[in-house]
Amino acid sequence: MLPEFKNTPFTDFSKPENRKAMEDALAKVKSELGKRYPVVIGSERITEGETFKSINPANYNQVVGEFTKGTKDMALKAIQVADDTFHDWKKVPAYERARYLLKAAEIMRQRKFELSAWMVYEVSKSWPEADGDVAEAIDFLEFYAREMMRLSEPQPVVPYPGEENELYYIPLGVCAVIPPWNFPCAILAGMTTAAVVSGNTVVLKPASTAPTIGYKFFECMEEAGLPAGVINFLPGPGGAIGDTIVDHPKTRLIAFTGSMEIGQRIHERAAKLNEGQIWIKRTILEMGGKDFIMVDETADLDKAADGIVTAAYGFQGQKCSACSRAIIHEDIYDVLLQKVVERAKKITVGKPDNPQNNMGAVIDKAAHAKILEYISIGKEEGELVLGGNAGPEGGYFIEPTIFSGIKDKDRLAQEEIFGPVLAVIKCKDFDDGVRIANGTMFGLTGALFSNNRSRLERGRRELMAGNLYLNRKCTGALVGVQPFGGFNMSGTDSKAGGRDYLLLFTQGKSVCERF
Ligand code: NAP
Repeated sequence: MLPEFKNTPFTDFSKPENRKAMEDALAKVKSELGKRYPVVIGSERITEGETFKSINPANYNQVVGEFTKGTKDMALKAIQVADDTFHDWKKVPAYERARYLLKAAEIMRQRKFELSAWMVYEVSKSWPEADGDVAEAIDFLEFYAREMMRLSEPQPVVPYPGEENELYYIPLGVCAVIPPWNFPCAILAGMTTAAVVSGNTVVLKPASTAPTIGYKFFECMEEAGLPAGVINFLPGPGGAIGDTIVDHPKTRLIAFTGSMEIGQRIHERAAKLNEGQIWIKRTILEMGGKDFIMVDETADLDKAADGIVTAAYGFQGQKCSACSRAIIHEDIYDVLLQKVVERAKKITVGKPDNPQNNMGAVIDKAAHAKILEYISIGKEEGELVLGGNAGPEGGYFIEPTIFSGIKDKDRLAQEEIFGPVLAVIKCKDFDDGVRIANGTMFGLTGALFSNNRSRLERGRRELMAGNLYLNRKCTGALVGVQPFGGFNMSGTDSKAGGRDYLLLFTQGKSVCERF
């Protein structure tokens, strides 16, 4: 019998032994930067052909890894191999499939510092942010392994005289897994292993800015003994090979996390029946957000300010759950704004391999330019009260930025910026705050700080966010504790890390025998 699921504890970097372990891991990873990685289809490792490079956003002259660039032909082959492998993999018993995840989770625990170090270099995560990402990935593996074991047990149906009735969950087929770069270990590992443990085979196309950590995860699955072809690793530009993977008639389901634009594109294309296709494709689409923290005049303002700053600037504001709107009651607006600015001023921006820096670089040149463009828009729409500039030279840094006086229909209040830019919006009263909070096309995360019991109850009912938090920040959902997924254009509300998640990767078969 397995021990109960428990979340992986975060590493305490104030302990000298943990600091030393992380420094050693960073040194090891630094010595391995720039290596060449293949496309892996079945047991074939493809190293010929064009390549692309993943670079360190905090030091854009440093190459993190060089990858074979997946092509359309490779995508077709990967789907074929995944489909062939499916015929064997689907027969592997659920408990056996789950054990691959448990073994890989253990391998990841052993390599935790190293995996974190890869993310420090590849996506510019701070030490604690990288550690949290690996911890979440391990949690997904442990949680989904147990979930599959639970789902494989006899499911309750109403007994009927003279018959034996049963319901069980069977896999779907080839799953295209298309993750984003911002949780390049956790989300990639979560979607992939949910598919695999449910009995599907996978074509995994990592985000082009974060393929190395994806490969490192793939290595852990290989080391755990996962048969070749169950996961096929296909790095390459989504814009060039994404449609081929999504459109293929043998692709049975698509697990995507990323922007609203690409999610919508996948949704549309997947709806079309292609020649030779005999099913309606399943899509699991988790997309962007315009998340809020709302604070009323009864709230503890110090706790609210801590929550806003942590949620707005953790990982440079590049979390789908990041607080990009602070909606503040007019009576406490000036005081709370001041507290937020004071705290944000203390954030240090720079290369995250140095643990003194709390905020690294944003992911790439395009994101850097886009965020600076939003900062220009913010200067028109509101008042710049902090930051507003690019950070140190040599990397894609941006200062923590705050705009006050943003109105609810402004672009800064409506569009996902995905960077360290906070829009502060005044509300007249609680009703006005709820209206503003719910007034975007998204609905991913949100928080309410209040000490008024009836407003907390109203917030529970009226605030439309897939993940709503009362009197705490809106980031940092834990696997199993706060199943994660958003409403409206934030996605299909799949609730990753929850008890319903694996059902999305399976189909229920009802069997009846009359004696
Ligand atoms: P993105 O640009 O949409 O990319 C996501 C993935 O889609 C990448 O692997 C990308 O590959 C691929 N892709 C690009 N074009 C494609 C196409 N035509 N067909 C199929 N795949 C394609 O998003 P991102 O910048 O990586 O991630 C940031 C976004 O993710 C934000 O909007 C954030 O809010 C959202 N997000 C949501 C959640 C959630 O749970 N709701 C969690 C994390 C992030 P390339 O890298 O090769 O372009």
